[in-house]
Amino acid sequence: MGLLSEGSPLSWEETEALANHVREHGINQFINLYHRLKDRQGDILKWGDEVEYIIVKFDDEQQVARVALRAQDLLAQLNEKELADPKGVKSLWRPEYGAYMIEGTPGKPFGGLMAHFNLVEANMRYRREEVTELLAKDECVMSITNFPRLGARNFTWPLAQPRPEDPLSSARSLYFPDEAIFPGHPRFKTLTRNIRKRRGEKVSIKLKVFKDVNTKLPVEGAPPGEPDVVLLDAMGFGMGCCCLQLTFQACNITEARRLYDQLAPLCPIMLALTAASPIYRGYLTESDCRWNVISSSVDCRTEEERGLVPLNKQKFRIAKSRYDSIDSYLSPEGAKYNDVPITYDEAVYQRLVDGGIDHLLAQHVAHLFIRDTVSLFSEKVHQNDNEDTDHFENIQSTNWQTMRFKPPPPNSSIGWRVEFRPCEAQISDFENAAIVCFVVLLTRVILSYQLNFLTPISKVDENMQTAQKRDACRKEKFWFRKSSKTTEQRAAKAKAQAQAQAQAHAQTNGKATLNGGGVAAENGNGLSVNGNGIDHGDKEEPKLTNGSSKMNGHGHGDTNGITTNGSASNGSSNGTDSDHTDTDDEENELFQLLSINEIFNGKPNVFPGLVPLIRSYLQSMEVDTDTHCTIEQYLRFIEKRAAGELITTATWMREQVLNHPDYKQDSVVSERINYDLLKRIQAIQERKHVEPALLGQGYHSKTKTKDFIPPALQKQLAKNGGCCEEK
Ligand code: ADP
Ligand code: MG
Ligand code: MG
Repeated sequence: MGLLSEGSPLSWEETEALANHVREHGINQFINLYHRLKDRQGDILKWGDEVEYIIVKFDDEQQVARVALRAQDLLAQLNEKELADPKGVKSLWRPEYGAYMIEGTPGKPFGGLMAHFNLVEANMRYRREEVTELLAKDECVMSITNFPRLGARNFTWPLAQPRPEDPLSSARSLYFPDEAIFPGHPRFKTLTRNIRKRRGEKVSIKLKVFKDVNTKLPVEGAPPGEPDVVLLDAMGFGMGCCCLQLTFQACNITEARRLYDQLAPLCPIMLALTAASPIYRGYLTESDCRWNVISSSVDCRTEEERGLVPLNKQKFRIAKSRYDSIDSYLSPEGAKYNDVPITYDEAVYQRLVDGGIDHLLAQHVAHLFIRDTVSLFSEKVHQNDNEDTDHFENIQSTNWQTMRFKPPPPNSSIGWRVEFRPCEAQISDFENAAIVCFVVLLTRVILSYQLNFLTPISKVDENMQTAQKRDACRKEKFWFRKSSKTTEQRAAKAKAQAQAQAQAHAQTNGKATLNGGGVAAENGNGLSVNGNGIDHGDKEEPKLTNGSSKMNGHGHGDTNGITTNGSASNGSSNGTDSDHTDTDDEENELFQLLSINEIFNGKPNVFPGLVPLIRSYLQSMEVDTDTHCTIEQYLRFIEKRAAGELITTATWMREQVLNHPDYKQDSVVSERINYDLLKRIQAIQERKHVEPALLGQGYHSKTKTKDFIPPALQKQLAKNGGCCEEK
């Protein structure tokens, strides 16, 4: 999460009374920002990850592990460096929901050079070491998705007890004390209280217990009539989980909309691959992922909105929580796959359309704005809609969806960005770096090979549920778009386009761009390795504007910013890709059920596989040896995990519990089992223990990750007209 604004939160009653005020001004602000920024062009590829961490405290004598409520104190120290040298730090640290959580990002985003992929893991290691230096000997910073005994008795240090009867408690949870909510900023407790108040009752998160031979039913705290349910009753059970997110900048709004759409169907796929949270409140459950938990944990919908009672006070029934999978595509080629009803206020939609926003974007924003504000600060009530965007951001940032479409912030050099949000946090820096680099590479291949993953939203929703099932990565099948063109055909087409472009542009070299080809002409984001089109104007932030966006004149005064997508002119009915027209597939055959293995590693005549596509793309790129080696390790890891040769973190955790000598086949993850599991995780993340089932043999000696781009490579890049990496 970005920087939090300071101020005093209003009471729920005051906030509720201002719901329409926030909505009205938020919409005005969006219309204004859109017109200021819709024609913004030529932003280079920048990208960065966010990793959330949990601070764990081990009591080695008692063999107990707890979450350490240390975030506020640690952040004060971590932020000192940033305050002293905001541009020079290698990492940035921000608060998260839990008083035991922190979020770390690179000090500045990575850029468009291949060598940047080699920096991610080293930066993640640096972050871990930086925090570790501030910890006591018995504490540890861990990138685990969920603390297995979160909400179980005495799970915090210092110990804190829930106060369900106390009217002043924010959560009023039976299990999750307010002390476990980050105390350093009022946002978190305010959200907790307001979501509960808006809903009219505590949130209710239900997970089926994993039934073992001795599992005692009803599970402690199970709701009446649902004996096999592990019930969780507080925002902290979801927002207190960690995840791995990444954001990247597109060259313009058109490309951002396209990438938003293309990545949306990959969210459930990546969720299944990264599944890492099978244990809740000390019980093994049937779920491998946090997603439904976090979704229910902030479900502020009233009974009317959830359809339990007829509408009276509220305007709509709402199908999903404000934390959920996206409901609509934003690009013209995505439009026909918007097959679930999209709820919005007609008047809000009309204001957006009257304000010059096209249908798809107006629908998206109007849909976000069916939500009321659940956190408002007195200082922020009155704003200048021509300059400020806080009311827009208020609603935007509390719609926590699988993808986020991020407009440029006011008065900044930042462009249109897209955030990819489904992934679960993995134990090691290696895994987290592999996943981040994989997704960023995928965005390049999507653009370069004009891949089309568009799948009806209803099927993506179905995949989201499938992804969370126990061992979905090895056992389940997912709706996926057929694409029979081979990697060779795609590579050849991209190359032909690149060559045509090179002829058109004398100074372009065939291997020039990270986009690898003709597609660059379309999307222009990129990223030249040898620096075509680099703007040397700004030495601080080398700007790789990839001439292509100038070449085909993106945006050309089209007010919607959507029709200039090069592919729209190729006559194909579905826009981005000619898959559809190149094959004889009937529409009803277009979407097939594939396993994770088939999606990542390919299925003949159906889909070439995400990993082979990336490999093919990389062949057209100039990559230094170390970066190549590192990327190769990441790809091997991902292909093996997808193939089931390596298991997901969730499956591994289950095995650790089931094989623990103290496990009583009763689904219970006792304090001792929890302690041993976390100790094992600590050894893995510190690379003291190799876990072949999870990571293969000796993974950690293999990447050549570095925390800077080597001078020789910088020189080479400079000689080619490229940029110099700042240290
Ligand atoms: P959030 O919206 O989740 O609060 P942040 O603003 O904290 O996101 O940043 C998320 C990530 O975006 C970080 O990894 C950061 O390095 C990266 N980032 C920062 N600036 C840019 C940019 N111009 N383009 C792409 N990513 C960026
Ligand atoms: Mg975060
Ligand atoms: Mg984020």
